Amino acid sequence: MKAIRKVSTLKTRTARLSPEEIGRTFRERGLKVTPQRTAIYQTLIESPVHPTADHLYTQVKRVYPMLSLNTVYHTLGVLRNAGLTHEVNYWHDRSQFDGNINPHHHLICLGCRMIQDLTDASLDRLTVSSVRRTGFEVTGHQVEFYGYCTRCRRRNPAAKRKRKEWSV
Ligand SMILES: [Zn+2]
Ligand SMILES: [Zn+2]
Repeated sequence: MKAIRKVSTLKTRTARLSPEEIGRTFRERGLKVTPQRTAIYQTLIESPVHPTADHLYTQVKRVYPMLSLNTVYHTLGVLRNAGLTHEVNYWHDRSQFDGNINPHHHLICLGCRMIQDLTDASLDRLTVSSVRRTGFEVTGHQVEFYGYCTRCRRRNPAAKRKRKEWSV
């Protein structure tokens, strides 16, 4: 009997670490714990949109008015070197940051450039037999789906029409 395919689960960010837990994470990686650094990391891991440095700056500045954009860039560099974030750069004109360090896939909106995490066990298990012939050793993979998010489809019927054409 054929196994029923697992339905994809869309996950919004649920990572909610307390400042204490973030402090522990930083210390484990030998990072200095400062309130601003903690706030930047917390905002990053709770954001469902893979924020840019500017986006993080605007958010965290509300709580820490003395924050500078330089501090945000510096902090993101520190977090990246510590393996707590990585850059996603689909658009080449701006870097977005991913605070989700667990394996996952992405839904990328061509309208508003939103990047949403997708976790799907069947994609995690993906194997491509032709790779084996190349002698390349695969240590991981990430699948990207391009299209239009529900908000863009609602706002722009053209995107909807395009989708219809494709599905014919
Ligand atoms: Zn969109
Ligand atoms: Zn992601």
